[in-house]
Amino acid sequence: MAVPLSICVFCASSDAVEEVFFDAASHLGSLIADGGHTLVYGGGAIGLMGALARAVHRHAGRVVGIIPNALVEHEVAYHDADELVVTQDIRQRKAAMDLRADAFVALPGGFGTLEELIEALTHRQLNYHAKPTVIVNVDGFYDPLLALFDHLISRRFAKAHDRASYEVVADPAEAIAILERRWG
Ligand code: AMP
Repeated sequence: MAVPLSICVFCASSDAVEEVFFDAASHLGSLIADGGHTLVYGGGAIGLMGALARAVHRHAGRVVGIIPNALVEHEVAYHDADELVVTQDIRQRKAAMDLRADAFVALPGGFGTLEELIEALTHRQLNYHAKPTVIVNVDGFYDPLLALFDHLISRRFAKAHDRASYEVVADPAEAIAILERRWG
């Protein structure tokens, strides 16, 4: 069995996205549980977040949801979480996620996911942490963002070595393999 990790996943709250993305979220959830790891995530019951958390539970894994008060009141929280940490606001929530995470994984998502991913990368760039951040490029979803990252580097708004602050994989199995190797 691999070293048990707390894996913080950022992903979509949208329910309207294509099946391929739900499949990836469920696959990642099953791998997190089967590897004996803990899911740390935004605590939502909707979209890819819900699919991810339910898959962890179907595979008898542990789910820690960290959600701001306002979203609990909107009744989108995953109340079946083994631990549901309710924070005052989004900033506190992200700090709590950071504290508990050994690594970050980004599945496809919208503005919220992008904000979380970019913050993890920015903090890594500034040496606030040295945690691996893995982008799961399901169905080429992140190709435009990765092209933008290259653009930042080619126009010298970022340094070439900043590419080392993230890893890009095509599917959840590769993401978990990278993390397990890193702690192997
Ligand atoms: P988005 O990508 O815009 O759908 O936002 C998803 C990301 O933002 C997740 O990783 C969550 O941490 C956070 N988030 C956004 N909406 C919600 C919600 N309704 N419930 C819980 N977390 C959310």
